[in-house]
Amino acid sequence: MTHDNPTPAINDSTDVARAPHRAGGHSPNCHALPALNEPAIDCSPLLVKTRKFQNARKVRALGLYPYFRTISSAQDTEVIMNGRRILMLGSNSYLGLTNHPKIKEAVKSAVDRYGSGCGGSRFLNGTLDIHLDLEEALAHVVNKEAVLLYSTGFQVNLGVISAIVGKGEYILADKSNHASLNEGCLLSPGEMLRFPHNHMLALETHLKKLPPSAGKLIVVDGVFSMEGDVIRLPEVCRLARRYHATVMVDDAHGIGVLGRNGAGTADHFSLTDQVRMIMGTFSKSLASLGGFIAADAETIDYLKHHSKELIFSASITPANAAAALAALKIMLAEPERIAGLWRNTERMKKGLASAGFDLGGSRTPIIPIYCRDLLTTFQFCKRLQEEGVFVNPVVPPGVAPGMELIRISLMATHTDDQIDFALGKLEQVGREVGLIDR
Ligand code: PMP
Repeated sequence: MTHDNPTPAINDSTDVARAPHRAGGHSPNCHALPALNEPAIDCSPLLVKTRKFQNARKVRALGLYPYFRTISSAQDTEVIMNGRRILMLGSNSYLGLTNHPKIKEAVKSAVDRYGSGCGGSRFLNGTLDIHLDLEEALAHVVNKEAVLLYSTGFQVNLGVISAIVGKGEYILADKSNHASLNEGCLLSPGEMLRFPHNHMLALETHLKKLPPSAGKLIVVDGVFSMEGDVIRLPEVCRLARRYHATVMVDDAHGIGVLGRNGAGTADHFSLTDQVRMIMGTFSKSLASLGGFIAADAETIDYLKHHSKELIFSASITPANAAAALAALKIMLAEPERIAGLWRNTERMKKGLASAGFDLGGSRTPIIPIYCRDLLTTFQFCKRLQEEGVFVNPVVPPGVAPGMELIRISLMATHTDDQIDFALGKLEQVGREVGLIDR
């Protein structure tokens, strides 16, 4: 299962759950009522798990904890951390737009015009004309009849899959799909069948066993968020045609990266007509927060009236909608950004490969460096930060045990000098932690 921010998988100890929780070290007596002037003892069985949870503390104690690092500047190719400038190689802002003056200007005017929030859901009082403008622009880019906005990409996946796949129907899901797709599948009353990553024979084996007339959704990431590889979409679509299944692609990491004008993975393979639903997010290339589903008009109308995550949740803020719309316009007006992103990707990959790193099967600006060991991954990450380079560690359950990796992601706006600086540091620290030969 793939998550964006997995928890380190160092085993929990039960010691803390058994330890006394009051000053003075006496075991709590859960059956005695506390005196009126005494604080209540927390004997809630519900919270035993929180006391048992030791993973994060153990990694902190080793000085290797790599999560929730605080940044005090805009998300850009360089950020400020602890008062120090550091090169950002861990952002999903692929087009480098999160600090763009035109987008910031669009956000300010949206707030001036519409205020700070919508005060309700799209279904009732929370639909603004700017939401419709953004939906129309997105439909045009991904070449679908209609689009529906949600407040996050995660909510799209929950809200679409649970509304579309009913009881007695089936979901076929790649095992490396994003956590939000898995959660969406769990919310649906349909049955989920998972197939090994990009394994088309296994997908077909599942499909063959299902009743021909049953509803079936094949749901996959376009670009896999940790591995950086791409779904074998032509084969997925061929199987979908053969077994009368519907295809949904989560293109969080494909929009702005692959396809004509950043239209995404389906466009990259010229298969937009065969992918019935394309999901995207604004939290990556589109420099904002929010998500969308693109499909035929009937499917979108159905979702508008059945998707609980849409109907019962407030609509995307004017500021977020304006930022995404402005980013979309820049993406279309400046195709050189996507070209730059790919140039940067090639430069980085070439350097890493010639240094001898194991890069797996990445085909995109997401470049994994496989460490295949938990502590090495954390050490690599920490030492790189000390050397002025921010990267993300990915450990189980984000990847399978033994597949631990450092995830690098490029932006269109990284300079050659920044990439060469990073390559020098990656090579130096890679040798230090034993990932490449001395
Ligand atoms: N799908 C994938 C593949 C993602 O990587 C993410 C974000 N990490 C999401 C969905 C959820 O998107 P959002 O950040 O908009 O909630």
